Amino acid sequence: METTLILLKPDTVERSLVGQVISRLENKGLKINGLKMMQLDDAIIEEHYDFLMDKPFFPGIKAYMKRTPVVAIAVSGANAIATVRNLTGATNPSEALPGSIRGDFALTIDANIIHASDSAETAEKELKRFFNEGEVVEYTKVTDAVV
Ligand code: GDP
Repeated sequence: METTLILLKPDTVERSLVGQVISRLENKGLKINGLKMMQLDDAIIEEHYDFLMDKPFFPGIKAYMKRTPVVAIAVSGANAIATVRNLTGATNPSEALPGSIRGDFALTIDANIIHASDSAETAEKELKRFFNEGEVVEYTKVTDAVV
């Protein structure tokens, strides 16, 4: 069982797609263990995207990620990290396959709907970055036995 970090980016909030994207995760059988809205500031964006800080488009990412609050979600399930990356689709929505979240809901790389941790190591770091102690909860659902 793995837990991974998802951010629904400002375009998802602005376009009222939060419910539809969360439904994709729930329909897949993933369990929501943490869920909150957060207004990001420069410090957390710089930490989260530190590997992109030298890129010419970094100021654009910063402005984008601050446009509205984001929705931070911790989800768990068997192979959740790779599964959520597959549901998410390619970084550039023009290359994301139909059926994936970016493939179905986004058009350009400037507004690609969702962030999802890309490895176990990243997921662990990112969950701590966006959720405080006690905000990610474990519980049992009757459906756990059938997904
Ligand atoms: P991800 O793991 O699929 O989100 O992709 P990356 O870790 O490579 O990039 C992180 C985020 O930076 C992407 O989701 C985009 O929001 C943004 N990004 C990456 N490359 C570009 C680019 O070439 N142009 C712009 N505008 N944004 C980019």
